[in-house]
Amino acid sequence: MLPVTKKSKMRKRTRRSHHAKRPPGIADCPQCGQARRPHRACENCGYVNSHTSIAAGTQES
Ligand SMILES: [Zn+2]
Repeated sequence: MLPVTKKSKMRKRTRRSHHAKRPPGIADCPQCGQARRPHRACENCGYVNSHTSIAAGTQES
């Protein structure tokens, strides 16, 4: 089956105007103020939330 009517360049571009990839959210760490992804541990201090924090900068390969 073929498309019944050709979609114009403008229709195609208008449809794809919603397809842009958005950057991930960024929030400030409440403990050290560094930028941090929501629901992720802070890379600077290891803070996750008020009950949880992990050791930061001590990972060995
Ligand atoms: Zn932090």
